[in-house]
Amino acid sequence: MKYLYFLTGSQDLYGEETLAQVAKNSREMTDYLHTRLNGIADLRFLSVVRDGDEAETLCVRASAEPDCIGVVAWMHTFSPAKMWIRGLKALRKPLLHLHTQYNQRLPYPTIDMDFMNLNQAAHGDREFGFICTRLGLKREVAAGYYKNPAVIDKLRRFAEVANAIDFSSRLRVAVFGNNMRDVAVTDGDRVESEIRYGWNVNYYGIGDLADLIAAVSPAEIDAQTAEYADKYTLRTTDTAAVREQAKYEAALRKFIKRERVGAFTDTFQDLHGLRQLPGLSVQNIMAEGIGFGPEGDYKTAALMSVLCKMAQNRQGATAFIEDYTYDLTEGGELELAAHMLEVSPVFAAEKPKIEVHPLGIGGKEPPARLVFDGIAGDAVAVSMVDMGTHFRLICAKIRLVTPPHKMPKLPVARVMWEILPDFSTGSAAWIYAGGAHHAVVSTALTAEDIRLFAKLTDTELILIDETTRV
Ligand code: MN
Repeated sequence: MKYLYFLTGSQDLYGEETLAQVAKNSREMTDYLHTRLNGIADLRFLSVVRDGDEAETLCVRASAEPDCIGVVAWMHTFSPAKMWIRGLKALRKPLLHLHTQYNQRLPYPTIDMDFMNLNQAAHGDREFGFICTRLGLKREVAAGYYKNPAVIDKLRRFAEVANAIDFSSRLRVAVFGNNMRDVAVTDGDRVESEIRYGWNVNYYGIGDLADLIAAVSPAEIDAQTAEYADKYTLRTTDTAAVREQAKYEAALRKFIKRERVGAFTDTFQDLHGLRQLPGLSVQNIMAEGIGFGPEGDYKTAALMSVLCKMAQNRQGATAFIEDYTYDLTEGGELELAAHMLEVSPVFAAEKPKIEVHPLGIGGKEPPARLVFDGIAGDAVAVSMVDMGTHFRLICAKIRLVTPPHKMPKLPVARVMWEILPDFSTGSAAWIYAGGAHHAVVSTALTAEDIRLFAKLTDTELILIDETTRV
């Protein structure tokens, strides 16, 4: 399991006895918080930091170890912050400044100067906070008694986001073909994506996949088809079309493993050697948190896998979806989100049905796909766009709703929602912000998670929520 380092700041002035007490208290607090992280990450206490050399050594160590995803720092006593400058400048991992105390209440009848000197985070954490601010360090501050549920929630969120950032830093993304011709918002600066988020985005010819598809054995197709039959309801007699998708999935899985990718894109404009647009196959793979973006949308594909990683210890659904069409009934406006095929079954409110229908675009054979109505519940929609000078995240609070009517002629999976605070405000804000028609929707994550991810990756964030005014 990945881990966070817990660093306690102090200084030499206090003497060995006090520093031993600081270490003992820190160990006890780390053990307590470790259990509350509940498997998201280990929390490991290293040692009490007494001077600049120790601060630098530990920050360099945290930065260099591949399995260390971040640092939690707390100043039990006063720790003169110039001693932290070299260390913090060397720190390359997300930082949580835990502003807390070993003691919850003051011992009013017995409090003396020794007690005050030992327990002075109010003093020491301000000194540490100043130097972080002075250095322009993007970090999270969690303030309160360390056993408070709200403080523990912040620590857990920090660990989940740090884990996602760590995952992001090594994410490989495969782009089959290129960006859909002439489309602006799905394109982006791949060099900057790699510098900022670590996404190593690479082009593959669809022929690379077609070769793998051609080599899939009938037994592999049988096994994949059996999995479909087990998970979904077959609502077609065109078993050849379903087997075709099973073949694509077997090939895609080999490709994903061989190339060690966590996200991929394709495009209906480049399907040379494939008889169908991948639908059912991609849907089934997306359900495992492998990121997918259609039409060459590498940003959405990568963002989806990063947000799935962030949400892996939570209940809920996270996947790509596309804004498609509206019900503009005044006061009850609803969005109908879907895609040509590729909607993840994590959004299904019922057992998905496998259906085969012609696709009016791309000139290929009718593809098999999953069809279902989506779940209800609070969610966020998150979109990433390239502003030329920087990336921007747009995060809207939305409320998924059960479709108000049956749509028997709609041959794709669909999810419906209301945007906050109301349609005219929320949608206009999204348009003003330049938000795309592709987003990652999550019922597992909240705007607070996205805010923290944006802060720790130094990404601009436009938040659209119940307080938004245009
Ligand atoms: Mn699309």
